[in-house]
Amino acid sequence: MQIITPGMRLVPEAVLANNAAIFRAIPETPSHPDSSRHRVVIVGGGAGGLELATRLGRKFGKRRLSITLVDRNRTHVWKPLLHEVASGTLNPSNDAVEYIAHASRHHYRYRIGEVVGIDRAKRQVFVAPSFDDDGRQVIPPRVLGYDTLVMAVGSISNDFGTPGAARHAIALDTAGQAARFNRRMIDACLRANAQYEQLSPGQLHCVIVGAGATGVELAAELHKSMREIASHNLDNIDFGRLIRITIVEAGPRILPALPEHLARDSARLLIDLGVQIRCGIKVTEVTEDGIRLGEKLFVPAELVVWSAGIKAPDFLKKLDGLETDRINRLVVDETLRARGDEHVFAIGDCANCMLPGEENALPPRAQTAHQQADHLVKVIVARLAGRAAPALRYRDFGSLVSLADYGSFGSLIGGLKIEGLLARLMYRSLHKMHLKAVQGTFKTALDTVAGILAQRTKPRVKLH
Ligand SMILES: Cc1cc2nc3c(=O)[nH]c(=O)nc-3n(C[C@H](O)[C@H](O)[C@H](O)COP(=O)(O)OP(=O)(O)OC[C@H]3O[C@@H](n4cnc5c(N)ncnc54)[C@H](O)[C@@H]3O)c2cc1C
Repeated sequence: MQIITPGMRLVPEAVLANNAAIFRAIPETPSHPDSSRHRVVIVGGGAGGLELATRLGRKFGKRRLSITLVDRNRTHVWKPLLHEVASGTLNPSNDAVEYIAHASRHHYRYRIGEVVGIDRAKRQVFVAPSFDDDGRQVIPPRVLGYDTLVMAVGSISNDFGTPGAARHAIALDTAGQAARFNRRMIDACLRANAQYEQLSPGQLHCVIVGAGATGVELAAELHKSMREIASHNLDNIDFGRLIRITIVEAGPRILPALPEHLARDSARLLIDLGVQIRCGIKVTEVTEDGIRLGEKLFVPAELVVWSAGIKAPDFLKKLDGLETDRINRLVVDETLRARGDEHVFAIGDCANCMLPGEENALPPRAQTAHQQADHLVKVIVARLAGRAAPALRYRDFGSLVSLADYGSFGSLIGGLKIEGLLARLMYRSLHKMHLKAVQGTFKTALDTVAGILAQRTKPRVKLH
């Protein structure tokens, strides 16, 4: 297992190899001066966890509850924006929420670190140590006690063990990975513009593996931003003709989880832009120079993004015996409680929540994490009052796909089709709803105005 914390070094394998023994020797960190408070520990401050910590903090943080949010990062960037960070159309430093400041404003505690395990009998969470770039331990391993534990650690992309994928393809699971892809993309444009010789096969070609919403939206964003970058003095070559973007999907069509008309409209728009779509074929290997499709076909590419499928982080598989599904998600009931433990709950992408009468678990989407965070507040209130926890009622508000400035399509409740500006505004409003939940209406409105003003003075894509 490797633990990566931005700005800090990997935790050496040896430190974690025997993590239970290490952590059992460490005394529990006091959670609050008032020891009578019920201790809620939330692991993961993403779309679900941060909203939950904020709501609980506002409601109970000054009195009744000791709320601790643990996240391995120092800042939160809403994950559905990561393809825009990757393409450079969004600068993460403008949209990030600083956990330290946010926690103090909303009456919860924030602790940085990567959770690597729990002890259910003692109700303890194990947080790995963090190291700086010179290998010095910045923060020692810690043990936090809980009365209620909420796992909200999200998901990571699933490369299904495809040879070379982990090494040569970039996933968009974190803001760091998205920023790394963005740097590579800008470097690719600068290099192509500066070289005297002909472009080599695969140069300025980008392959996106997986045609879910992330892959499809990324294709459009890249189409826009690579041209935008090229328009800033990169005039030695014809970027419009030389940039190539290809989406590869193993299933029969793009956007396999969304209604067919959304896939049809999106595919038509992407093809008009010159994006190549290859469905019904599997990537069998990723190399330094491109991807292999099936047995024989090789597609050269300078940039490969992996966005085909997700799984919950591997450490959940060994979370002190809690039940997980085949993609490591914790199995929870309709009150979001983990099967077999009345003190552990899970929300968002890392939870497998199948509601009674349904055939599928709730989808791994921001709106699921949002509704579950909302619901868990009610569950915790019931828990504190000694009442039975209410069951979640999920409402699917539909799906929206936004293809950069080129077009947006949506399918709302009851199959209502929308497109164009209305679909785009609704897509944007999802992010604003999240910001409103974590920052409040006033700050969200101020940030929106500031963002509009900043657009007038800054380039439309990030150029460094
Ligand atoms: C590029 C992209 C575009 C997307 N677009 C959409 C969209 O348009 N609409 C939509 O509904 N959904 C979209 N999604 C899916 C959506 O982002 C997720 O469903 C949602 O973020 C899940 O929320 P979460 O709280 O479960 O996890 P996350 O938001 O991923 O948060 C998980 C948090 O846990 C932290 N963490 C992880 N492991 C540990 C650990 N061991 N210890 C401590 N902290 C840890 C992480 O740092 C992170 O802060 C998109 C996803 C991607 C990648």
